[in-house]
Amino acid sequence: MQKSGKIRLPEGKNIAVNIGCDFDATSVWMGTFQKTSPAFMSRGEFGAEVGVPRILKLFKKYGIRGTWAIPGHTVDTHTDICKEIISNNHEVCHHGYLHEDLTPMSYEEEKRVMEKGLESLEKIGINPTGYRSPSWDFSPNTLRILEEYNFKYDSSLMGNDFHPYYIRPIEVNRDKGSVFKEPSNILEIPVSWFLDDFPTQEYIPGISEGLISTSSVLNRWISSFDYALQEDGACFVLTVHPQTSGRAHMIQILEEFINYAKNKGAWFTTLEEIYNSFHSN
Ligand SMILES: [Zn+2]
Repeated sequence: MQKSGKIRLPEGKNIAVNIGCDFDATSVWMGTFQKTSPAFMSRGEFGAEVGVPRILKLFKKYGIRGTWAIPGHTVDTHTDICKEIISNNHEVCHHGYLHEDLTPMSYEEEKRVMEKGLESLEKIGINPTGYRSPSWDFSPNTLRILEEYNFKYDSSLMGNDFHPYYIRPIEVNRDKGSVFKEPSNILEIPVSWFLDDFPTQEYIPGISEGLISTSSVLNRWISSFDYALQEDGACFVLTVHPQTSGRAHMIQILEEFINYAKNKGAWFTTLEEIYNSFHSN
C-alpha cells in the first residue's frame, strides 16, 4: 500500500495550494525539444524578461509564495532575474541543468547533471530542499540519486493527486506482476499534466497543437480544485511556466483562479512548507 498522508493546515484554511513556476526559459527548447533556432530562443527570452516579472507582480499582489523550479542553465543565462525571484522570498528547487531527458542516462551521467544544477543554484545562494525532474520523468537511478543528495521531497510523479506519499521503487516485470519495494524517505508531492499550462497552450509545429481556449483551462483547474477541496488535508499543485502563463491570455485566468481559490480558503504556499506540514496516515 502507498504511504500517503495529509497536510496540517493553518487555522481557517481549507486546502494547501502550490503554484509551481517552472522557469525553464530556453533550456526546455534546447534540452527537451532539441530546438535552438532564434524563434524558439525568443520564447524562452519572453519567459525570463516578460513572464517572470508579471508573475512576480501577481504573486506580490496576493501575498503568495511559490516554488520556482529552475534549471541550472536558466540560472547561468538569467542570473539577475533568478536573484529577483529569490529576493521576493520564493522557494527554488532543483530542475536539472539543461532540462535534459534523464531516462536514457547512466547513473554517472545523471549524477553529473545533478552536480551541475547544484553548482548553478549555489551561485545564487540556493541549497535546495526539493527536486522537480525535467519533463517529469525519472530514470531507474533518479530516486537513489535524490537520496544520496539528501533531498527531502520530489514533485514530478503522479501516484496520487491531492495527497503526498513516499516514493516506492518499482520492480518492473512483464512476465509476472510488477513489485513495489519499501518506500524511500523522499516525499512525493504529486503533479499532473492536467494541471500544467504547457501542454494546453504551447504550439510546437509537428509536436503539439496547444492553443486550447483559456476558459476551458480555467474550468479544468477549478473542477479539480473543487474536488480536492472536499478531501481532508489535501494539497493542490498547479504548474505554470513564465513563458506560457506570463502571456496576457493566461495571466488573466491565473489571477481568476487565485481569486477563486482564495475565496474558498486556499493556503498558498511553497512545496517545502507542504513537506513540513505533511503527516502520514
Ligand atoms: Zn521544466
